[in-house]
Amino acid sequence: MELGEDPSREGLLDTPKRVEKALKFLTSGYAADVDATLNNALFSVDYNEMVIVRDIDFYSLCEHHLLPFFGKCHVAYIPQGRVLGLSKMPRLVDIFARRLQIQERLTNQIAQTICQKIDPLGVAVVMEATHLCMSMRGVEKQNSVAATSAMLGVFREDARTRMEFLELIKRPDMMSRGSVSSVPGLACVSD
Ligand SMILES: [Zn+2]
Repeated sequence: MELGEDPSREGLLDTPKRVEKALKFLTSGYAADVDATLNNALFSVDYNEMVIVRDIDFYSLCEHHLLPFFGKCHVAYIPQGRVLGLSKMPRLVDIFARRLQIQERLTNQIAQTICQKIDPLGVAVVMEATHLCMSMRGVEKQNSVAATSAMLGVFREDARTRMEFLELIKRPDMMSRGSVSSVPGLACVSD
């Protein structure tokens, strides 16, 4: 074996099977049906203030190295007649996180899907993640957190709405540590 291991030793015998099973679960988002997941949770309401769900945990796999990236997702939207059941938000995040991803695409897919399903005045998604392909392999990036955002509708057009959302998802520990940095051209390099 190229890694210098003995693939026939006891601990490794069933590893290919286990890895296959794990990978099937970690990519189960491809088979998930967004409509089936959301359809009984779309409601008509007379409410047009910002709806925010913050600190949704997510775990995804970087498509370049098949190593995990994971962290928190914050979602907001301003409805115009329709809302999405709050409990569906983590499910929606999982559907797109359980695929081979880059963080930027994952962020966009969540925002675009909410936009399509309830046609709100705007959608904002911010994701903060640790990438093991950076922290396990790099030497200076162990503690870096990558942040991505997708701003649609009023969140893109109106700076005050955007700022209100960004203020609401700020956590005290983050502000003091100053650990979150926006990394343009973030996707891990394909080396
Ligand atoms: Zn990677």
